[in-house]
Amino acid sequence: MKHWNDSRISYRFVLPFEFYFQMAISRVSLRRLSCLRPSISRSCRNINTPRITQTQCLSSQTSLRLIHNSSRAHQASKPKPADQAQNKKAIIGQQLREEWSRYNEFPQASKLHDFQVGRRVTVHGFLSRKRVTSSKLVFADIQVGNGGPTIQVVSQWESEGSPEHILNQELRAISLHSPVSVEGNVESIEASTSQLGDVPSHVSIQLNRIQPLNAFPKDIIVSKGVQFPPSARHLQIRYSDPLRSRLLARHKIGSHLRKSLDGLGFTEVETPILFKSTPEGAREFLVPTRRSGLAYALPQSPQQYKQILMSSGIRGYYQLARCFRDEDLRADRQPEFTQLDLEMSFATGKDVMATVETIVRDLLKALNAEYRLAVKDGELYPVPKNTPPSRDTELYDMRWPDDQPYSPWSGELLKEIPRYTYEEVMSRYGVDKPDLRIPFEIMQVQSLLPRSFVSMISDIKDPIVDAFVFSPNHPDTDQGVKPAAEFMDKFMRNLPIALAKNPDGAPVALMFDSKKPLSGLSPLGFDGVDALMAAGEAAEKNLVEGESVEKNPFAKFANLEDGDVLVFQARQNKPFEGGSTALGTFRTLLYQEAVSAGFLSDNPEFRFLWVVDFPMFTPDNETDPGQGGQAGFSATHHPFTAPLTDADVELLATDPLKARADHYDLVVNGVELGGGSRRIHVAKMQEYVMREILKMTDKGVAEFSHLLEALRAGCPPHAGFALGFDRLCAVLTLTNSVRDVIAFPKSMKGEDLTVKSPGKITSEQLETYHLAFPSKKKN
Ligand code: ASP
Repeated sequence: MKHWNDSRISYRFVLPFEFYFQMAISRVSLRRLSCLRPSISRSCRNINTPRITQTQCLSSQTSLRLIHNSSRAHQASKPKPADQAQNKKAIIGQQLREEWSRYNEFPQASKLHDFQVGRRVTVHGFLSRKRVTSSKLVFADIQVGNGGPTIQVVSQWESEGSPEHILNQELRAISLHSPVSVEGNVESIEASTSQLGDVPSHVSIQLNRIQPLNAFPKDIIVSKGVQFPPSARHLQIRYSDPLRSRLLARHKIGSHLRKSLDGLGFTEVETPILFKSTPEGAREFLVPTRRSGLAYALPQSPQQYKQILMSSGIRGYYQLARCFRDEDLRADRQPEFTQLDLEMSFATGKDVMATVETIVRDLLKALNAEYRLAVKDGELYPVPKNTPPSRDTELYDMRWPDDQPYSPWSGELLKEIPRYTYEEVMSRYGVDKPDLRIPFEIMQVQSLLPRSFVSMISDIKDPIVDAFVFSPNHPDTDQGVKPAAEFMDKFMRNLPIALAKNPDGAPVALMFDSKKPLSGLSPLGFDGVDALMAAGEAAEKNLVEGESVEKNPFAKFANLEDGDVLVFQARQNKPFEGGSTALGTFRTLLYQEAVSAGFLSDNPEFRFLWVVDFPMFTPDNETDPGQGGQAGFSATHHPFTAPLTDADVELLATDPLKARADHYDLVVNGVELGGGSRRIHVAKMQEYVMREILKMTDKGVAEFSHLLEALRAGCPPHAGFALGFDRLCAVLTLTNSVRDVIAFPKSMKGEDLTVKSPGKITSEQLETYHLAFPSKKKN
C-alpha cells in the first residue's frame, strides 16, 4: 500500500511562468485555484516546471500534480493538433488513475478495543468541523457514524516546515464534509456506560496523518437544519441526524422482530414479487411481459402465497414483505410499502393475536434496553443508548410501553392489549382506528334533544345525533373563554368540505358560558338543556366513587364549565359501515388542532388496542375496486376472511351485510398498525363466499383456482396477520410520517424524486411489450 507521505511531495512545486500567464487571462480559473495556496511549499523548487493549460486547471491539487508529472514531453517539442488531442486524453487518463489510487487506497480503521490512551489509531469518517484556534493549532471533528464516539483531531505545530506544520496545512486544505482517513495518537478518552459495557464516547487524537478519500464540492452548501431537495436524498440522510437515526432504528426494529419470530419457531419464506392479477381487493400495478397480451401483477400482499404455504405444511411463516398497491396516496400511504407478514397453521385468530402481542412486547422491551430519546431542534427521535452527548442534542430516557402485551407462551400474564369490537369503537369514537388518548367520547343524544334542534341540524327524518363535550385548557389570562372561542371559531371556519357540506347536516358547536342566557346553549332550548343536565346527573349517580367522568361521558353534562364545547352531528339511523363517521373525523381533527394550539396537552403515551369483529362485507364505493362481484358489496378485509361464529355463517345467506368476520386490527394512537384474520380453510366454503355471496363471475373465481386447489388438498385451519412495518417504525421512532423511516420514499404523486421514476415509456418499449397508447379522440 502506498504511503500517503510518499506521494504528498509530488504536488508541492513552484508554479511556472506559463501558469501565471494563463491564469491572468482566466479570472474564473484563478478563483478556482486560490484554494491550492496552502499546499505550495518552498521545499520543492528543483522540481521541473509543468506546462498547464486552462482546461487542465479545472480541478484540485491532484490535477496539478498529475499535470506536472507529464510535463517534460510537452516542453521538448510543440505537438501537432492530433497529437495534442491524444496527449490530452492520456493526461486526463493518468490524472484520473492517480486520483483514483490516492482516494482508493487507505488503511484499515482501528477496532473499538484499540482506543487506548497513547495508542496509534486510524479512524474514517467525514470531516464535520474545523476550528482554527490559532495559526499553529487546529481542532477538527470526524463524524464516524451514529452511535460511534465523537472523534476530535488535534493538529499543532511549532516550527515552520516541520512534519507537524505540513500536516496542519493538509488538514486546513481539506474541505469540510470530505471523507477522510485519519491516523493519530490517542490523547484522551471519555467513556460512557452502556449495555455493551464502557464504550468510548469522546476520543481526542493528535494528528499523525490525514488522507482525503474524495473531495466535497463547493457548490453544495450545508447549513444548520438544511432541507435538501428530494433529488439530494443522500445529503438529507447524511446531514439530518433524526432521519439517519430513524433509518438505523428501522433496521434494528426489523432484526428484533425477525429474532422473536425465529425464537417462536417461525420460518421466513420469500414469495414472488412477479405475481398475477387477482381481485383480492386493492388496485394493482401491472408488469407487462414480452409475450404478447401477458402481464404479471405486483403483489398487494403475499396473502395467497402464505395460505398456500399453510397447505404445504409450513407451520409458522413470516416475511418482511414488499407490497404494492396503486391506491390514492394519502399523507401516510406509499404505493410500495413493507409488511411484517405472518401466518400460522392449526391456529385461530386468538392464537395469532397472542403471538403479535408477544413480538410487539419483545420489541418494546428491546427498544427500552437499547434506545433513548434525543431532542435536536425540537425534534424527538430515538438513538442508541451509547450515543455520546453532543453540542446541539439533548438526551433523555424514554420508555416504550412493554408491559401492555402478554405472553401466552410463558404463561406470564402482564397487561393484555384491550379489545374493542368494531361496533363499540364506531359508536364511542366514530372511527375504526381510535386514538385512545383523546379525552372526550361520543354519546348518542337524539332522545334528549328537542325536535326543533334536531331538525335545525339535519334534514334526515329520525337521525342518530352524536355528540361530545370538548374541554379546552384555558390559558392563564384574564380573557376568560375568549381564546378558546376564537380557536373554535377558526376551526369551524376551516373544516374540510366533506364535513362542512355533509349532506346529513353540518356539525354544530355550542360553547358553555355562564354569562350568557341558557349558559350559551340557547339553540337547545330549555327542554334540551334540562334533558342533558338530567342525563348528566343520572350518569354521575351511577359512577362508582372516584371514577372519572370519562367512564361515563354523559356525566360531563352535569359538570359543564365555562369554555366547554358541545358538538352535535346527525347521521343516518343505520348500521355503521366504513372506517369513520363524520363526527369521528371531526373529533380526531379537533384533538390534533387543539394539541398543536395548546388547548389540550400533548400526551406522549402509546395506547394500543385491538379492534375485532368487523363486518364481513362493506358496501361498494367508488375508490376501492373490491372483488368486482355483483353483490353491491365487497370483503371488508379480503375475501379469504372467515365468518366469526355459526350465526354469522347463517347470516351469509340471509343478511350478509350483518355478518361479522374473525378479523382483527392492531391500533395505536389512531394509527392502524396492522390487520389480520382467521381464514376460510375449506375450499367449498371459500368458493361459496366468492360465487354465491360476493357474486363474482366464473372468471373472477377462476383467478383464485390455485388457492382453491391448495385449500382442497386438506389445508389445515389457519390465521394470520400483517404488521405495517413502515408505520410501526414511524410510530416507534416518534414521527407522523412514514417518509421519515423510508430511505427513498415516493412523493404524493407516487414519484421517486431521487431517481425520477416512473420514467416515460419509449416507443421501442411499447413495441417490445406489445403495448399501445389509446388513440386520441378526435373532436
Ligand atoms: N394480507 C392482509 C393485508 O395485507 C393481512 C392478513 O390478512 O394477513 O392486509
